[in-house]
Parts: sequence; C-alpha cells; structure tokens
Amino acid sequence: MIQVGIVGYGNLGRGVEYAIQKTEDLELVGVFSRRAPETVETVYAETNVYALNTILDFKEKIDVLVLCGGSKDDLPQQTPELAEHFAVVDSFDTHANIPDHFAKVDEAAQKGKQVAIISTGWDPGLFSLNRIMMEAIIPDGKTDTFWGKGLSQGHSDAVRRVDGVKGGVQYTIPSEVAMEKARSGSKEELETKEKHVRECYVVLEEGADAKEVEQAIVTMPNYFEPYDTTVHFITEEELARDHQAMPHGGFVIRSGQTGEGTNQTMEFSLKLDSNPEFTSSVLVAYARAAARLAKEGVVGAQTPFDIAPKYIHPKTNEQLRKQYL
Ligand code: NDP
Repeated sequence: MIQVGIVGYGNLGRGVEYAIQKTEDLELVGVFSRRAPETVETVYAETNVYALNTILDFKEKIDVLVLCGGSKDDLPQQTPELAEHFAVVDSFDTHANIPDHFAKVDEAAQKGKQVAIISTGWDPGLFSLNRIMMEAIIPDGKTDTFWGKGLSQGHSDAVRRVDGVKGGVQYTIPSEVAMEKARSGSKEELETKEKHVRECYVVLEEGADAKEVEQAIVTMPNYFEPYDTTVHFITEEELARDHQAMPHGGFVIRSGQTGEGTNQTMEFSLKLDSNPEFTSSVLVAYARAAARLAKEGVVGAQTPFDIAPKYIHPKTNEQLRKQYL
C-alpha cells in the first residue's frame, strides 16, 4: 500500500480524501493543516488530522504528500519546502510562473534526493498533455482551448454588485459557433470574446426592476459588454438548490492539414460537475506515480510531460499492454 498525506484541507483536500477511497493501492495516513487540528472537520470521521508543523515526524510513515494549498500563496512556499523531505505532487496552476516554480522545486528536491511532480490537474495537466500530443501529430494546424461550462468567481462577484441584485452566479460557456470554427481546419485566429458566452442567474431585491438590472449587467464594460450575455431571473431557493456546485470543464481542439490539404481534427473535452473533486482525482493518480518513481530512485522536479502513462495506473504494465493496446 502507498501511504499518503494530504497537506492543506480545502476543496482539493476534501477531494483527495474522497479519491483515495476509490483506490485499492493507496491509504491515507492523515491530513496536515496549518489550522488547529481540532477545528478541521474532515469528510470521514476516522481521518486523522495533524498540525502541519509536526509533519517531519512522519517521514518514515509517508510515501507521498498530495499538496492541496492554493497556487497564489501556499504552493510557491510549501512545495519547495516539503519537496526537500518527501515525494510530493501539486496542481500549481499559475501558468506564467510554472518555469520559476519548477526551478525552485527542482533545487529543493535535488537537495533532499526526492521526486516532485508539479502542475498536475486538468489545466495545467491533462489539457497540457493533449496540447503537445496534438501539435506533435498535426504540426500544420491551430490549437484552441475553450473553458466551461464553468462558474466564474470574478464575474459572479460583478453581478452581485449591480444595484437591485440580491444574489447570483455567472457561468462561462464555450460558444458553439466558435467551436465549429476551431474544428473546421481554418487558421483564422479566434478572439477571446467570441470564444465564450456568459450566462447569469440572478435573484432580484424586492421591488427591483428586472429590465433595468438586465440592462446594467449586459452593458457592464469589460465584464459583459463584449460578450453575448444572457440573464435568467431565479428565486432565492433556486439559487441555493441549483447553483452551489463548482462545475467546470472545457475543450482542447486542434484542427489542421496533412497530405495535400486533408483536414484532420483532434479533440479532448471534460465535463465536470465538480472541478475540485476531479482535480483531486488527477492528483491522486499522479501521487501513485510519484511513489513509484521514488522507489525507482528518480530525483528532482517533474511535470506530467515527464511521466509515462504506466506510472499513473494501478495495473501492471503487462496487464495494460494486454488490455488497452
Ligand atoms: P481552498 O481555498 O479551498 O484551499 C486552499 C487552502 O486554504 C487549504 O489548503 C487550507 O490550508 C486553507 N483553507 C481551506 N479552507 C479553509 C478555511 N475554512 N479556513 C481557513 N483556511 C482554509 O482552495 P482549493 O482547494 O479550491 O484549490 C487549491 C488550488 O488548486 C487552487 O489555488 C488552484 O490553483 C488549484 N487548482 C488547479 C487546477 C488544475 O487543473 N491544475 C484545477 C483546480 C484548482 P490549511 O488546511 O493549511 O489551512
């Protein structure tokens, strides 16, 4: 059994606790949090919670740590610190800073002779793997990424700030028209604003005028004005019942030409009812890889580009060859 520790217990931490339950080869040692352990309420009552500052006492008991902190402030500090002492995986997703994060984690992991897999998840992660595979196979072409249907925190906040709005959420949805263009083999660059449409679900304050509120939303500069925006009015009960989940997903599409102009299209898509639960499931598959690579003596920072598929799957390579080739 691969012994796992969870560092940081938010949405991803909870998702990892669930995901480990679905495996037969991974076992949870416990959750490590910066908060007082007795204040952290886990999904399963039997899960142990420890103070993060005691984690070095667990060096011999843990094969791999799944780091579930935020990309903005937690992982830039926690991943290098912990990679010196443990095999680790993270889902660091600040795309522009990945090279810098890689360098810092690599230095720490080399120093401690550990392996660290960074930027797993779906974007970065599974989307990135598909982008490089598609481009390698169809060099004469164009790749587009579409995100959604997904809940956007920033745009939901903007809706809630409009006068007359009591509550609301905003979903970003890929535009069907733009996706068809992306699949067509055309090299025409698509602009961000034509790639996505925006859908708002709004609860009105008592006495507020629906037409005025709708107008204020769809004409809001930068946020909604450049997009095709639809506003739906719902009740407070509907908002609580139907819009609390964190759905997300998206498409990576590459189309281009081989031969003398033969069109070829490749597509990878995700439709997620819960972004964090899915991201956590990816982290857990890569935690398996990290534990196995550590056993093989591999040292240093790695990304999903470096990990052969056989390492993330519980079956042996022989079984995989028989079943999936
Ligand atoms: P959260 O904000 O839920 O959790 C982040 C950290 O905040 C936790 O590790 C926890 O640390 C602390 N925390 C959580 N809840 C509380 C609380 N109630 N009070 C005080 N502190 C709390 O973030 P998510 O789990 O949603 O996401 C983590 C990161 O995952 C994101 O920043 C994002 O970058 C990344 N991500 C990556 C994806 C990819 O495809 N690569 C996709 C989705 C997300 P502690 O327990 O130590 O207090």
